[in-house]
Amino acid sequence: MTLTVDTLTVWMNKFADKIETNKQYLSDLDTPIGDGDHGFNMDRGMKAVEEKLSTKPSDLTNGLKTIAMALISTVGGASGPLYGTAFLEMAKKSSSTDNIGELLDAALAGIEKRGGAKPGDKTMVDVWSALVPSVKAGNLTKDKIRSAVDATKDMVAKKGRASYLGERSKGHIDPGSESSGYLFETLLETEGL
Ligand code: ADP
Ligand code: MG
Ligand code: MG
Repeated sequence: MTLTVDTLTVWMNKFADKIETNKQYLSDLDTPIGDGDHGFNMDRGMKAVEEKLSTKPSDLTNGLKTIAMALISTVGGASGPLYGTAFLEMAKKSSSTDNIGELLDAALAGIEKRGGAKPGDKTMVDVWSALVPSVKAGNLTKDKIRSAVDATKDMVAKKGRASYLGERSKGHIDPGSESSGYLFETLLETEGL
């Protein structure tokens, strides 16, 4: 449950791989309810993160800060600043704790503050708010991740581009929730975390 520079790097490399594998799918999810770029945005960002982390950061705080900056400067759209804020808040929090649950709690608070979305608004907040408590309780599973992502399908979007569609946003999984699901899946796959 302790995040280190090494486990952070393994986690981010796994996340980057998963994003690359699924970039077309993520953009396809973003096509009916957005502008079809989410997977490409995230892939660009995570390639930059991988490149930055290929030089080992001096400590956890710097590692998290580096990730935040890479995402903010390369992802763009709505999701870039939101993922960037998540890692920036983790960086700030890491001066007082290296517990992954505490760090993710701070990240979620940052995403909510920055984007103003609440649970039920069909955004990545739905996945983060459903799963951070499980990380803290040490009982996160792939099934819980899948359920949290799939739960966005029948929601009506209240924030982001998908909200322009109102009721017609129903019936589609939220792309940022799917990519956030990958973040939690790869966390589960990271040994020692
Ligand atoms: P854009 O919509 O600018 O093209 P992306 O396609 O990369 O950006 O990201 C879209 C995702 O961002 C959505 O699927 C949603 O999960 C997330 N998102 C959008 N607006 C918000 C918000 N206000 N709060 C939280 N998440 C949001
Ligand atoms: Mg988009
Ligand atoms: Mg866009």
